[in-house]
Amino acid sequence: MPIKPELRWLYPIDWRELSRLIRFGRAGGRCEQCGRPHATTIRQLADGRWFDEERRCWRDDSGKPADWPDVVDYAGMSGRRIRLATAHLDHDPLNSRPDNLRALCQRCHLRHDRREHLRRRRLTIKLRKALGDLFDGQYRRW
Ligand SMILES: [Zn+2]
Repeated sequence: MPIKPELRWLYPIDWRELSRLIRFGRAGGRCEQCGRPHATTIRQLADGRWFDEERRCWRDDSGKPADWPDVVDYAGMSGRRIRLATAHLDHDPLNSRPDNLRALCQRCHLRHDRREHLRRRRLTIKLRKALGDLFDGQYRRW
């Protein structure tokens, strides 16, 4: 997940190297949550189960072996390109200690950040309302 330019200064100067060390050194190129391998295209079902080509089995979002899909499940299957990113467990980019970092695939990263994204979204809406009240009088919905 790319870093927003306005937040770039919060990350340590060696973030690229640190992130690479976490993703490929510690995690061995696999998501530390579900085990999806970096830079591969996997088969994934609508409910999140994915096919582990190496072990020839289906896995769930926690990386545990899952039931084989039925015909209906196969209908929702798609190919997903996996990219690992390094996530801050406490959502604080100033805290880049290795025990606060985790190599996550896109799906796990979005799930991990969901509450934080919702919190920031609520804050953005409140800020917009406040600016609307400040410059245009009562904030109006369009
Ligand atoms: Zn994952």
